Amino acid sequence: MSKPRAYSVKAYSAAAAAAPLAPASIPRREPTDRDVQLEILYCGVCHSDLHFARNEWHFTQYPAVPGHEIVGRVTKVGPKVTKFKPGDIAGVGCLVDADLDCPYCRRGLEQFSPSMVMTYGSMDKHLGLPTYGGYSEGIVVDEHFVLRIPANLELAAVAPLLCAGITTYSPLRRAKIGPGKKVGVVGLGGLGHMGVKFARAFGARVVVFTTSPAKRDDALRLGAHEVVVSTNADEMAKHAGSFDFILDCVSADHDLNTYLGQLAPDGNLTLVGAPEKPIPVASFALIMGRKSLSGSLIGGLPETQEMLDLCGAHGIVADIEMIRMGQINDAYERMLKSDVKYRFVIDMASLKAG
Ligand code: NAP
Ligand code: ZN
Repeated sequence: MSKPRAYSVKAYSAAAAAAPLAPASIPRREPTDRDVQLEILYCGVCHSDLHFARNEWHFTQYPAVPGHEIVGRVTKVGPKVTKFKPGDIAGVGCLVDADLDCPYCRRGLEQFSPSMVMTYGSMDKHLGLPTYGGYSEGIVVDEHFVLRIPANLELAAVAPLLCAGITTYSPLRRAKIGPGKKVGVVGLGGLGHMGVKFARAFGARVVVFTTSPAKRDDALRLGAHEVVVSTNADEMAKHAGSFDFILDCVSADHDLNTYLGQLAPDGNLTLVGAPEKPIPVASFALIMGRKSLSGSLIGGLPETQEMLDLCGAHGIVADIEMIRMGQINDAYERMLKSDVKYRFVIDMASLKAG
């Protein structure tokens, strides 16, 4: 494989864990045979972007360009691309490459492939350089990792589906959530609010656990049947031992044992939140009631397309607050205060203009 030429695009990057994000220029490869080049229109702001920019997961290489909830317009395609043509609207999530030949790729579980390349924080095998995310003007991605966007949805509000959407859709599907199941969603942020929408759309009884009493009305509007303020012992006691499934979407340190106590026997708590520090689990919280604790990582490409198509059919999108690229550092501070309603999305025209 000969090395493609690189060209520069404008981006926002962090130079160090303690540095704010600032304008930068980053390399992209000229599209190879199977590549799709996108002009990025919108990019969602995931809490993972913040963990990564600040090296909270201890693998960040700098400069770091976050962003993996990308919606854009196709500007160029390689000669072997079949799914897209210039002018099409398309999406890119957390994955941009993998071998497509290992047992996981063959099952549509590219996120578990040993050769999986993340949108940021991995190595681009073409250029031999780090991958840089969607806080940028454009991106070049193998067409297998580019998603079709239903034409009827508002584009900016689609962007968060590429990570927050699939990350909550996949474990709910895997747990066969539907009518007759009682589902708890912990943490009403970007992931949590999508979890509520999906669990409700699948026909479950949905309860939101929040540390923010002011989000009660929003939680009900988003689809919850009930809201529990997790710091209120009486509200927590009312539901103890009653859930089939709990989806934990919390980004910071919190007590998992409290939520294991909310599960019914044989219930499952799935962690999608990825806080910096390990979380202690009391063995009796699992043993009593044969409960299980699992994790889940985004979803593969076929399931992501399935989720987008379902969102098109049912008119499901994220509730978003649009920001300009230059507001990203303030948005991170608000995210840390759990003050996001319920996903920031960057209007990428503001990067071009700025
Ligand atoms: P977010 O929008 O910031 O939402 C996180 C929510 O957690 C907050 O809104 C808040 O909800 C709750 N929370 C925050 N601090 C808390 C604390 N100290 N104690 C209890 N609750 C607290 O974040 P997000 O973008 O949804 O991401 C959530 C987590 O999922 C992050 O760790 C992210 O890295 C991870 N993630 C994982 C995957 C995956 O594939 N597994 C994919 C994407 C993101 P309330 O105000 O309702 O309490
Ligand atoms: Zn994400």
